[in-house]
Amino acid sequence: MMSSGPAGPYSALRLAWEALRGHRHWRPAWRSVARPRDAYRVVVVGGGGHGLSTAWHLAAEHGITDVAVLEKGPIGLGNVGRNTTIIRSNYFMPENIRFYEHSLKLWERFEQTHGFNAMVSQRGTLNLFHSDGQRDQFARRANAMRIEGVDCELLDRDAVKRLVPLIELDNTRYPVLGGFLQRRGGTVRHDAVPWAYARSASARGVDIVEHCEVTGIRVEAGRVTGVETTRGTVRAEKVVLCVAGHSSRLAEMAGFRLPIETHALQAFVTEAVKPCLDCVVTYGAGHFYISQSDKGGLVFGGAIDGHNSYAQRGQLPMAEEVLAAGKTLMPALSRLRVLRQWAGVMDMSMDGNPIISTTPVGNLYLNGGWCYGGFKAVPAGGFYTAHLVATGAPHPVIAHFALSRFREGRTIDERGAGPYPWAH
Ligand SMILES: Cc1cc2nc3c(=O)[nH]c(=O)nc-3n(C[C@H](O)[C@H](O)[C@H](O)COP(=O)(O)OP(=O)(O)OC[C@H]3O[C@@H](n4cnc5c(N)ncnc54)[C@H](O)[C@@H]3O)c2cc1C
Repeated sequence: MMSSGPAGPYSALRLAWEALRGHRHWRPAWRSVARPRDAYRVVVVGGGGHGLSTAWHLAAEHGITDVAVLEKGPIGLGNVGRNTTIIRSNYFMPENIRFYEHSLKLWERFEQTHGFNAMVSQRGTLNLFHSDGQRDQFARRANAMRIEGVDCELLDRDAVKRLVPLIELDNTRYPVLGGFLQRRGGTVRHDAVPWAYARSASARGVDIVEHCEVTGIRVEAGRVTGVETTRGTVRAEKVVLCVAGHSSRLAEMAGFRLPIETHALQAFVTEAVKPCLDCVVTYGAGHFYISQSDKGGLVFGGAIDGHNSYAQRGQLPMAEEVLAAGKTLMPALSRLRVLRQWAGVMDMSMDGNPIISTTPVGNLYLNGGWCYGGFKAVPAGGFYTAHLVATGAPHPVIAHFALSRFREGRTIDERGAGPYPWAH
């Protein structure tokens, strides 16, 4: 299905035609709505990946087009445009494998669905292991994935070196013993994702209102009735919070607390070099992952800064730690200059897994707790959030993501690390 949108469908023919006309006739990719209307059936708070994906799925799958996406800034400048673009479905728990594999399948047809070039690149994701115990853990994970029909392979040292010559197998601290490869994993151009969803949702009648901050949530007799915004009050039958690192602030506006902390997560990109790394690599002995962008820069990141913050900037100690891990794994990196560094604000849930759920307030829904892995989940996150909002009940695939799991002691132990927030 090709969406047309205000700008009409994109195609090679159209590109040639517009080039002949001096590129003066392109129209904006989505309708810019200056002010929200007084009332909508559904208000989605947050114009990031999950908010826009939810709005599009509401319109496309459920025929609910009386929807507004309210975004406090320009769309796509939150985490959806700040991440390191990695997609994969190499999880361990069957429930998680099913959810993330559905997302990966949606990525595989994303460009055809939206008629938008998002540079979906299934170049493979390689997780390295450095001890026998870690190899056994990966073997278990690989078996769990295969049982669910998802691709993955265990590689020995030689195969790792053939795939990524840059890796120093015998680095003195944590020699590489092998790797766990999902060939269908890879990267997607992150900026293109909110643009594509905005264009497709707008074409179906969804209002996308930028520079419209939600400052309050109206609740009457235990049910949501609308939101207060910097552009006035907007009434709504249903409200969905898709605000990632701001989830706890919005929940507070509605009168409840979430098991979520906000932390900064940094990313880095080097100067452009010739192609030298054609898969995503994750270091198993430190928090470090790296890929090469199509422009040639090496894009990498590590762990969250270890303190709560809503500031979209990181601190030097973590930058140093990430760079040290990178140099241990790939000493050649030390020859490159880092051109840019930035950060996003992560909604770290207390078991490291997302929340797609009803809330203590009637008709108020939550999509959050993505930690630092919510980009890959954008297609399925929107799909299942829209299903929840449209039907009022969770789809079986996301039943385990309910908020109530924290109260009931049913937290998700994807890493087998036990019920300790710090371990996730
Ligand atoms: C450096 C970094 C690297 C990452 N790498 C990866 C990766 O490789 N793979 C992966 O899967 N994930 C990755 N992530 C995580 C991923 O980017 C996030 O989990 C995901 O983008 C969060 O969902 P979102 O896109 O909806 O969030 P966002 O894009 O942050 O959307 C939330 C939106 O809500 C808006 N908002 C907030 N408060 C209000 C308000 N009061 N009113 C109106 N609007 C509001 C914000 O402005 C924002 O636009 C990374 C994140 C970072 C920062």
